[in-house]
Amino acid sequence: MSRLHNKVCLITGAAQGIGLATAETFAREGAIVVLADLKPEPVAEAVRRCQALGARAEGHALDVTDRARVDAVVEEVLARHGRIDVLVNNAGITQDARLQKMTLEQFDRVIDVNLRGVFHCAQRVADAMVQQGSGVILNASSVVGIYGNYGQTNYAASKFGVIGFTKTWARELGPKGVRVNAVAPGFIETPILGTIPDKVIAEMQQRVPLRRLGRPEEIASVYAFLASDDASYVNGAVIEVSGGMSV
Ligand code: NAD
Repeated sequence: MSRLHNKVCLITGAAQGIGLATAETFAREGAIVVLADLKPEPVAEAVRRCQALGARAEGHALDVTDRARVDAVVEEVLARHGRIDVLVNNAGITQDARLQKMTLEQFDRVIDVNLRGVFHCAQRVADAMVQQGSGVILNASSVVGIYGNYGQTNYAASKFGVIGFTKTWARELGPKGVRVNAVAPGFIETPILGTIPDKVIAEMQQRVPLRRLGRPEEIASVYAFLASDDASYVNGAVIEVSGGMSV
């Protein structure tokens, strides 16, 4: 399938995990993939993987909390390709602690990356999409943003905030031809789960009717659907992809 043929797709946090799987899935769908992540070398490796799939792919070192750098990367992409069709605001971090133990640094850092970083990228890219009269913005929320989670005050707030962004931008940008949606993954096997003890992971799996963690490709395929014209009437939605955790 080539549902994203020649669409210019910018994906943040694309060096590993769900971001990398999304870049590869989009590459298979014919997209021109623009991968952005903190460090140049992992991005370059991820770009090579997308190119090996036959896609046009390029990488950028980008910290989404650095507004000047976000503006510079977006300018560069626009100068090269003339447009950005899809933005996947995927970059995100955790820094867990119970409410009473959480430091202000932990709180600020997670809000900075997961919320302010999403705002930076969307605000800059929205200008280009509105000018084009089309575009898709996809935001990474989480089941934690819907139901909360022990030890994740900062992360839950950021992911709930992303849902607020999504609904607000869907209202503001919808009339201008831009769709905005969020995906709320359950527990997906990526390095972000690395700090969670095996016992807790086993308990998480028991809460999932499918009795397993998700795979990054299972989130990427939902992003691909939302990015494509197959989802042409989907706007302001939050799609939970969790193996049925909430039922
Ligand atoms: P991951 O840790 O494997 O990958 C995250 C990527 O984001 C990394 O490559 C990292 O370098 C990059 N990144 C971190 N800070 C950045 C910054 N300031 N600027 C640019 N890039 C930055 O995580 P993942 O599991 O693939 O998660 C991807 C997204 O999905 C995150 O937003 C996460 O919160 C969300 N999510 C993940 C899960 C899960 O279970 N894995 C569940 C729900 C939501």
